[in-house]
Amino acid sequence: MSYQHIRLPSSGEKISIQNGRLQVPDQPIIGYVEGDGIGPDITRASLKVWNAAVAKAYGGKRAIHWCEVYLGEKAAGLYGSAFPDEAVKAFEDLIVSIKGPLTTPVGGGMRSINVSLRQTLDLYACVRPVRHFPGVPSPLRHPEQVDVVIFRENTEDVYAGIEYPAGSDEAWKLERFLKDEMKADFQAGSALGLKPMSEFGSKRLIRKAIRYALDNGRKSVTLVHKGNIMKYTEGAFRNWGYELARTELGGQTVTEDELYAVHGGKPPEGRIVIKDRIADIMFQQMLLRPAEFDVIATPNLNGDYLSDAVAAEVGGVGIAPGGNIGDYVAVFEATHGSAPKYAGLDKANPGSLLFSGVMLLDYLGWKEAAALVTEAYGRVVAGKTVTYDFARQMEGAREVKTSEFAEALVGAMG
Ligand code: NAD
Repeated sequence: MSYQHIRLPSSGEKISIQNGRLQVPDQPIIGYVEGDGIGPDITRASLKVWNAAVAKAYGGKRAIHWCEVYLGEKAAGLYGSAFPDEAVKAFEDLIVSIKGPLTTPVGGGMRSINVSLRQTLDLYACVRPVRHFPGVPSPLRHPEQVDVVIFRENTEDVYAGIEYPAGSDEAWKLERFLKDEMKADFQAGSALGLKPMSEFGSKRLIRKAIRYALDNGRKSVTLVHKGNIMKYTEGAFRNWGYELARTELGGQTVTEDELYAVHGGKPPEGRIVIKDRIADIMFQQMLLRPAEFDVIATPNLNGDYLSDAVAAEVGGVGIAPGGNIGDYVAVFEATHGSAPKYAGLDKANPGSLLFSGVMLLDYLGWKEAAALVTEAYGRVVAGKTVTYDFARQMEGAREVKTSEFAEALVGAMG
């Protein structure tokens, strides 16, 4: 494949898919997007840490060959478009990539690049692990009990973008159809939005969440929905989830009801528990009883709120990582924005991007390198060496620049 501006590194091999599985060579080419605003600062710092962890874990046998892909302001300068086709092609071609935050101009009618990317590449699962590190400021008394991985559906629900402004021809046309033919009753001249949710879309997301739980020794998957009110969309999500667990993974799952009715509250060896919670009570339970939750699968809008709310329990979106994952193609990303106020100041916290890279290493199956970054982070933050955002919430902290924080992490790998 030839590119206009992207330069593939002269050494390294592409990741491939064989027999339905990712084949990761020891010298893989991985895509990265620097991002806008604070993006270059946190990307530079994170690359240093990831490379050091890989070198340390595998003694030179393995190394990542990074390939820069352009999106956002840098792409606009090169291609005249912030979302060039070539970037999409590269994400498909390289299969695994990571990106810094991108600025979405307000007003101009431009769709968020992040949303476009998820939809164009059909990255249907937005995966957000949220856990606490000792020393990271938290409003909870027992933040160490928070350790969840949220799988949020990325392509359906109200984010499908099917909505019509109040008073538009389209809204009036739809209103006439709904009232005349479907006997629906609502205020005349309303704005209208649709909430499509399919069995296919729900099941592929829930399947990914359950497989993740099984592969990573997790204990339960909770389906979070608002099915008591939206019975045929959110309620169906719940029902499809239980159906999938029973029909496809029956030998490896047990429902919460069966757990108590048949197994005396103790899951049989090798099985994970499938349970469900209504979205509003879930917010309460994640605050009061976080230890009861492990992997969470949820439709788009619930997941949007829940991911940020849970992240806030253990240090905020500044350190929460994320990944958008399809059947194989994965684009990991910092979950915060480009924080233009801090651009180029070497000040921002690289935590979110750094841990998105930990997810990437896990996705490659390079667990040893991933663990090295996580352990080093724990040690450095527990020692109160932190960037400005944490320093102002911690007593006796030593505030360092982004680049210095990265050096401290590399130093802590021993
Ligand atoms: P933002 O996350 O960029 O920043 C809000 C505030 O959070 C900052 O002023 C800063 O105080 C703090 N902050 C964020 N990241 C930080 C970090 N790594 N370290 C320390 N402090 C950090 O949100 P915003 O100001 O609403 O958005 C700015 C731009 O980013 C907008 O154009 C928006 O569309 C875009 N955005 C992009 C993404 C993405 O690329 N995934 C996500 C959200 C917002």
